[in-house]
Amino acid sequence: MERLAIEGGYPVRGGKIYYGRQWIGEDDIRAVEEVLRSDYITCGPKVDEFEQELARYTGAKYAVAVSNGTAALHCACIAAGIGPGDEVITTPLTFAASANCALYCGARPVFADVDPHTYNIDPDSVRAHITEKTKAIVAVDFTGQAVRHDELRALCDEFGLIFIEDAAHAIATKYKGQQVGSLADLTCFSFHPVKTITGGEGGAVTTNDEALYRKLVLAHTHGITHDEAQMLDAPHEGPWCYEQISLGYNYRMTDFQAALLVSQLHKVEHFAARRKQIVATYNKAFGNMPELILQQEIPESDTCRHLYIIRLALDKLTCTRRQFFDAMSAENVQCQIHYVPVYWFPYYRSLGYEKGLCPVAEEIYKGIMSIPLYPKMTDQDVEDTIHAVKKVVEAYRK
Ligand SMILES: *Cc1c(COP(=O)(O)O)cnc(C)c1O
Repeated sequence: MERLAIEGGYPVRGGKIYYGRQWIGEDDIRAVEEVLRSDYITCGPKVDEFEQELARYTGAKYAVAVSNGTAALHCACIAAGIGPGDEVITTPLTFAASANCALYCGARPVFADVDPHTYNIDPDSVRAHITEKTKAIVAVDFTGQAVRHDELRALCDEFGLIFIEDAAHAIATKYKGQQVGSLADLTCFSFHPVKTITGGEGGAVTTNDEALYRKLVLAHTHGITHDEAQMLDAPHEGPWCYEQISLGYNYRMTDFQAALLVSQLHKVEHFAARRKQIVATYNKAFGNMPELILQQEIPESDTCRHLYIIRLALDKLTCTRRQFFDAMSAENVQCQIHYVPVYWFPYYRSLGYEKGLCPVAEEIYKGIMSIPLYPKMTDQDVEDTIHAVKKVVEAYRK
């Protein structure tokens, strides 16, 4: 048996590898440079171009580009009309922004539990949490796997709820052959550097509903309109006039972010193919190891995986999750944990949430760890990661 690096042995590789990172090419750099030399560095033609291309790619009627994924979620909640007194059902196994967006609107996030095999929100648990105050569901395509659209859509129809999809992990994923972004009432994307395509920062909301689209546009630029048809005080004095007709924010994307995103979007299928290839290699390498539980997929989801999670069967190992994590770091494979259940955070506890709300999610949380997954990984990087996982499992096998 190989000696672990954490116990003085040689690490499986020299340089550190991280769980995720961007892939910026010379073509991306040229696209940004072109904008920086142009007349418009914000509110110019590149933002329009990106919105059109994203709508075309996802198959949605409309796309609104915003400054980041959190802004996308906030705008979606505003467009959905979420306000004080409302409840919004979401998952605890997510980045905090999926729940914070309800708080921004004065509503209360309600946490439904997840499926023990897919780790995505469980429609039966959603149903159990619906009250007369429930206004919307924020369903997260966790690690990139599509949520159960048919079941969630049926619940939304039955109870008159708005279906918001947090697809920060899921650009390039399809559900029953249909691209994520064209399915929910409002779909939110993030273009943070660890996500599948990046604008440095960036986000977008897609929708097929014109009324929701108009509200999104207002929400991301101060609630101000230049469209005479929407103005309330017309006839007005002249072409300089605009009106604020609702309360909005400045959540605009710059033209150089949009240029980077147009360039990245052209490569999204290439990125997705490489991610799928790495996932297949990992599945093959880890599939028959009883110490590791792998995330399962529903057949309806053709997944572009954003995160690859190994779940430790801690009853078959002599180590804790923390020891496993530290041993991987010493091998120079830097893992991450996605995610601490949102309502465990001190801020949520201060709002009255308590541990134990979602026992399945909490149990999953105890054993999970995200290992490196990004398209720029070389075959050697993938091999090193597999080597490290197997080495650490062997050292701690019961
Ligand atoms: C990244 C992420 C967000 C937030 O996106 P930002 O662009 O970082 O604001 C929201 N939800 C999920 C699930 C995410 O992973």
